[in-house]
Amino acid sequence: MNLQQNKDAVFAALEQAKKNAHRSQDLVNVIAVTKYVDSSITKDLVATGIQHIGENRVDKFLEKYQALSDQGLTWHLIGSLQRRKVKDVINYVDYFHALDSVKLAQEIQKRADKTVRCFLQVNISKEESKHGFLVDELDEALEQLSLLDKVEVVGLMTMAPFEASHAELMAIFSEAKAIQEQLQARKLPHMPFTELSMGMSGDFAEAISCGATFIRIGTAFFK
Ligand SMILES: *Cc1c(COP(=O)(O)O)cnc(C)c1O
Repeated sequence: MNLQQNKDAVFAALEQAKKNAHRSQDLVNVIAVTKYVDSSITKDLVATGIQHIGENRVDKFLEKYQALSDQGLTWHLIGSLQRRKVKDVINYVDYFHALDSVKLAQEIQKRADKTVRCFLQVNISKEESKHGFLVDELDEALEQLSLLDKVEVVGLMTMAPFEASHAELMAIFSEAKAIQEQLQARKLPHMPFTELSMGMSGDFAEAISCGATFIRIGTAFFK
């Protein structure tokens, strides 16, 4: 595993995807998803020039956070969060990507010492196994979320099915972009909806062409 080479390859592919999408001037944040490796390898990757770290499980998140908290990194919790674990982790999280219920948001409101930047996870493909709000459920959820001022809804997060074709990926990610723009236009209090968290190692080019502003990359760094 050559971390520097992998990192350079990811960032070169990112630049190419941005160019193809006529988005060269846009900031697309790369989150290194470190769930496959330990803290020591994570440190080595950070040394290649990584700013954003993502973990999908609370225990792993805290382990990495403790080992690397002196490095000035930006910390992303990207996986589903059980309500009973909110108190253990929420005050260390810079961005939470998997807000998938109003009850979870209420728990965050209760436990957070400061505003938490959150992405609403939307289940666009309607896969049974996926977490997230269905598109039809968003309006009602937003009404409830509007009461929770510590939950700053910065945007939408979505995941495409693993086996999706190029055409299916484009359909899912462009629908996410369309919904994000509609919600941004509403100018709801503490819900700027400016960001889109979508794209992983296998599908980030499609995500960028549809407007992703945060991509979550694991495998491509650690192969
Ligand atoms: C593991 C994971 C990723 C990274 O996926 P790769 O295919 O390894 O790049 C992104 N998002 C979430 C929510 C994950 O759990």
